[in-house]
Amino acid sequence: MRVLNSILNIIFPKKCVCCERDGDILCRGCFLSIKKVCRRISLPHLDFVCAIYRYENSGVLQKVIKSMKYRFLRDIPRLFEYDILDFLEKNFDKSSFVLVPVPLHPKREKWRGFNQSFELIKNLDWQIVPAIKRTRNTKPQAELARYERLENLNGAFTVHPSALPKLLNKKIILVDDVCTTGTTLSECARVLKGAGVKEVYAVVLGHGG
Ligand SMILES: [Zn+2]
Repeated sequence: MRVLNSILNIIFPKKCVCCERDGDILCRGCFLSIKKVCRRISLPHLDFVCAIYRYENSGVLQKVIKSMKYRFLRDIPRLFEYDILDFLEKNFDKSSFVLVPVPLHPKREKWRGFNQSFELIKNLDWQIVPAIKRTRNTKPQAELARYERLENLNGAFTVHPSALPKLLNKKIILVDDVCTTGTTLSECARVLKGAGVKEVYAVVLGHGG
């Protein structure tokens, strides 16, 4: 695999997704320009949500996340692992929390090849339970007017019955890449609380347009 990667790097040298400098998928300069803010956001059904980085329209983080999602760059989520882990360890007690990635519909996950929310945390030494299932392949929330977004997600998520025993007496941290209006996170938290979970938090990379 390493040999294959080296060959691929010679044929298609890695370029920074932001400034196109040769070398890395995201160069050190661009990565360091993503400012950590740990901004708290209030959303219905959630105890609190925290956005780890500043997120701006046409900003570096937005470009990085769009490249990850639409150019299928599976290596990108790993770049944020350290900061996510640092945030989790400083704010939550590992023994009482379970990480739940926000799911994609299976068709969308197959198209992309991965679920970016899961990729962000898959290597962390925390308990991860993909407890929520997306039952409808909804339109991307970003393409809808604000009033259409709740309607779009109505009934789109359910909790896997098989996951319930793993959630008993645990608190949940939902994980997603970006929180736009927050309707996805709220809807996931609503179904988790409906299934008996007492506390639901969320951590996202960025919050905004
Ligand atoms: Zn760069």
